[in-house]
Amino acid sequence: MKAPRVRCPTCQREVPFTPESKFRPFCSERCRMVDLGAWFAEERSIPGESATGPDGPARPDEPAE
Ligand SMILES: [Zn+2]
Repeated sequence: MKAPRVRCPTCQREVPFTPESKFRPFCSERCRMVDLGAWFAEERSIPGESATGPDGPARPDEPAE
């Protein structure tokens, strides 16, 4: 059975989309943090656009620590 592959949004590396890939679709925790950081930075840079709260858009399932 072939695991589907996705590209890491941060570095474009191919990542197998399997339970072993803890940080999928990112290749690593580092890339995930980089992406989150960029996302938060973007949020903050948009003045007057605060309609999205903690219960905003659905998030993909996150692996439980
Ligand atoms: Zn990456």
